[in-house]
Amino acid sequence: MTRFIDTLELRAEDEVLLRRHGEEAYPEEACGFLVGPTPTSGRRVVAEIVRAVNEKQDERTHRFLVNPEQFRKLEHDCESSGRSIVGIYHSHPDHPAEPSRFDLDHAWPWYAYVLVGVDRGRASAVNAFELDPDGGGWQPRDIVIPTPSMEQRSTER
Ligand SMILES: [Zn+2]
Repeated sequence: MTRFIDTLELRAEDEVLLRRHGEEAYPEEACGFLVGPTPTSGRRVVAEIVRAVNEKQDERTHRFLVNPEQFRKLEHDCESSGRSIVGIYHSHPDHPAEPSRFDLDHAWPWYAYVLVGVDRGRASAVNAFELDPDGGGWQPRDIVIPTPSMEQRSTER
């Protein structure tokens, strides 16, 4: 598996779903999973957005925690269809769409992290990042719209 993938391929309609989830959860943080074909060719394509419940018992306005059971079950379900969890998204109510210190401390390598800024209830910026190999910081990842041929290939898998 390629360790570094420079871009995150996300359809415009799926970006709309991320924004909508962020707005619906406001003033709490929304979170969920990005599912796509297992990235064997150095491309990371999002084919499906799967919402997660924010499991954090407190501080949900600026913290999130995905349910580990849901993560494992989803990962298991994906395997049988040649898919993987390729990223994790969450929203930042009234904060910029940049990873926080908490995000850095809790992030896993390899996954794309997508941040949705929600400003007074309205989604603003959507940005993608990937953890540095040493876990000490973030690399921004460009969000690109998959070309039709890319989508075709992803559905054939
Ligand atoms: Zn965060």
